[in-house]
Amino acid sequence: MDFMNKKINRLKLVLETSTSCVGTCVGCALPVVERLQQKPIIEKENLQKYFQKIEEFIWNLEKKTEKIFDFLIVELVVGEHFNYSQEYLNIFFQEIHQFFQKINKKYILAISTSGLVAKNKVEEKLKILHRFFDKEQLEVHLVCNLNKFNQYEKTYREMTKLFQKYFKYINILTNFDNQLPTQYCDQFAKYLQDFEITDFQLVYGLKQHNQDDVNYNPNLFYEIYHKILQYAPSGYRQRDVQEEIEKFENNTDKSIQEMIVNVDNIVENQLFINSFGDVFNLIQTMFGGIELETRAGFQKITNIFDNEAINTYLNSKKIMKKTLTKKYLSQEVCQKCLYKERCYNVALPILSENFIHEGICYNPVIPFYKNKEHLISIYQEKNKNNFLKDWKIDL
Ligand code: SF4
Repeated sequence: MDFMNKKINRLKLVLETSTSCVGTCVGCALPVVERLQQKPIIEKENLQKYFQKIEEFIWNLEKKTEKIFDFLIVELVVGEHFNYSQEYLNIFFQEIHQFFQKINKKYILAISTSGLVAKNKVEEKLKILHRFFDKEQLEVHLVCNLNKFNQYEKTYREMTKLFQKYFKYINILTNFDNQLPTQYCDQFAKYLQDFEITDFQLVYGLKQHNQDDVNYNPNLFYEIYHKILQYAPSGYRQRDVQEEIEKFENNTDKSIQEMIVNVDNIVENQLFINSFGDVFNLIQTMFGGIELETRAGFQKITNIFDNEAINTYLNSKKIMKKTLTKKYLSQEVCQKCLYKERCYNVALPILSENFIHEGICYNPVIPFYKNKEHLISIYQEKNKNNFLKDWKIDL
């Protein structure tokens, strides 16, 4: 479980390698037109060059920052990977495997899926995956549609059984939207319990195309998380939430410079690269990573095929600090906010245009901080039973 140990130097690399999907989540990060795109977004002839350039980028990142990464977390996102043909996936997995061999570090590879592709087809593709990777190195990110949980539950259960055969780690994600039904939370928690899945995440996937439909209601976001948490087993994703809220203190005296001390680490330890090789910042919140990419209204920082890619990328530290400072100075609501220290520490206000409206902040982290004591008591109760039962690292 090295990859969960925050004391080792980890690089998290989120790669956009699929945008097609048969799912219909309202809070999906992808517009419909991209979901309908069935062809691989990186053509097979370009895969080798793509991974070669990423490899170079990592070496340069280590050189420039004088940091050696002990562990690599590679997440293949955003859509369905098991839509691709066996022929394509064979080359795709082979190239990724070669990339890991050349990088020669410990790693974990996570792959996203909707769980809605026919089971027999997926199983053939999982066998191909296992030609190159051991179960121990693999995590599946199964995006469950909580809105349609009733309709898909049987399928999710069948697919989960299959995924447990091939992946050591299973993370269940649910895209948040304002119509998520609280009545399915118990049923969903029972499904997690039955499969002893300790990791679920509510995803904050607010993009320009889904803003009106998602329409963040922080209280509902909290209510759904809280309902599931009460009944579900709990693992390292919840540990992230717990750790974050434990760090929260009502500290409003810090200067903006003190609050953004973490920006260098944010830029150096995590990034998002799309299928064209465009590089973007990635911020890590208690709910998981949020890509500051085009669909969220951000511009690329650089491209892995540019000669100056690493210098331009590292320069984004300065830009991020400047942007956060400007946001702070122009947002009275932030200056007065009780949660600002933690919020600026993870650079969340960089997205403030999405959740501050007419001087009111609808940031979904707020109810988590407000309910700190109550949430911690739930975690403590869970610690006694199953929480982190096989997580032997020193926290
Ligand atoms: S929670 Fe909202 S108001 Fe508070 S610092 Fe963050 S963005 Fe600003």
